Amino acid sequence: MEFVWDNDQRTFRRTVRAFLAAHLPKEWETLAHGPATEWQSAFSKRFCAELAAVGLLVPHWPAQWGGRDADAWMAFILAEEMWAAGEPRGGQYMNVNWIGPTIMRFGTPEQQARYIPPMAQGMTLWCQGFSEPESGSDLASLRTRAERDGETYRITGQKIWTSYASEADTCFLLARTSPGRNGISVFLVPMTTPGITVRSIPSLIGEGDIHEVFFDSVEIPSDALLGAEGQAWDIAKTALSLERVGIPRFSFAIRALHRAVKTLQRLQRFGSGAMERAAQARAACEAARFYSYSIVDRRRHGLPIGAEASAARYATVLAERAVSEFVVEFVPEAMSGSDPSLLAHHQRAIVAGIASGAAEIQLNIIASDLLGLPREPR
Ligand SMILES: Cc1cc2nc3c(=O)[nH]c(=O)nc-3n(C[C@H](O)[C@H](O)[C@H](O)COP(=O)(O)OP(=O)(O)OC[C@H]3O[C@@H](n4cnc5c(N)ncnc54)[C@H](O)[C@@H]3O)c2cc1C
Repeated sequence: MEFVWDNDQRTFRRTVRAFLAAHLPKEWETLAHGPATEWQSAFSKRFCAELAAVGLLVPHWPAQWGGRDADAWMAFILAEEMWAAGEPRGGQYMNVNWIGPTIMRFGTPEQQARYIPPMAQGMTLWCQGFSEPESGSDLASLRTRAERDGETYRITGQKIWTSYASEADTCFLLARTSPGRNGISVFLVPMTTPGITVRSIPSLIGEGDIHEVFFDSVEIPSDALLGAEGQAWDIAKTALSLERVGIPRFSFAIRALHRAVKTLQRLQRFGSGAMERAAQARAACEAARFYSYSIVDRRRHGLPIGAEASAARYATVLAERAVSEFVVEFVPEAMSGSDPSLLAHHQRAIVAGIASGAAEIQLNIIASDLLGLPREPR
């Protein structure tokens, strides 16, 4: 396969880079901005509104919803450039990648009218309420209940590891409406609803990033249900498949690697050992990039995306880890804060193999669905 960017794609990438150069604060690279701090969330609302104003927030959305019907390549170029810059959109990357498109597909006209325009204008933050203390990889076992009572649902239970929850306006929530695997439903829940308590979980990965969210008899109107009762599996599968290919974390890794190598060269510490390891890390990033491109190409041609997305995601996890290990070994001073940008990459790489679904689950999918290996008998 010969891979080249066409003129429109090159021009688009230049436009995005010029926008970033003009709109990120001068000291951006040295700001210790975790992905979900209060500062980052406020900044993302200003930044995304500016992106929206020039048509760069949701170019891949249908024109009807404020987009330009741009194809999957343009969406990916945009995402690559945003991640290379440390993802200044903050949590809003979820809105544009999968929450908006999922509501376009499954929402009622009222839900679409209420939730999609603020996303297209860059004015709103969402969080994803899937994981629970006893239920992460095995989402089918989740226990948060939503009980119907006339025109309302009453929600009781607990979510955990919820990114952005303290700053989010709305939660894309999975809750159980009846027993069994097909008894889970999706609700769009305003985070200001009485009975919701958010507690931040202190962690290595940065201030304000992950939370516990408690639902204590939270009453929401029945029209907060997305799709039909019990349809969560279909909806979540659509959402997760959009997210798995939507995050080009390798571009942040490449940027971090480049920065680390420059530092070593400046300090005259870029010897042959470091050079070999840097080359290996770079090769891992390129592998992740091309796996991801193959998924974008499938999407561009309307082909189904299955286990290939797991391979792309796993390759990206390996790339982030390779860069992170390189930095820890050869530029260890960055870990104590001498370079906030390298530290930020490291913090994200620590959780790369768990945050949007465990890497081992991706390996299971690759083993059974791509390689055709037998499953272990139960
Ligand atoms: C930084 C961060 C941000 C997150 N943000 C969110 C968020 O916004 N919203 C949200 O809902 N969740 C979020 N999560 C949670 C994340 O989706 C879960 O951590 C993940 O799905 C794994 O679930 P778990 O933590 O319960 O681990 P478990 O599922 O209990 O897994 C623990 C270990 O067992 C392994 N394992 C489990 N099952 C299998 C299996 N079948 N085969 C082989 N190995 C297996 C896993 O690979 C893992 O190593 C976040 C997590 C992190 C770390």
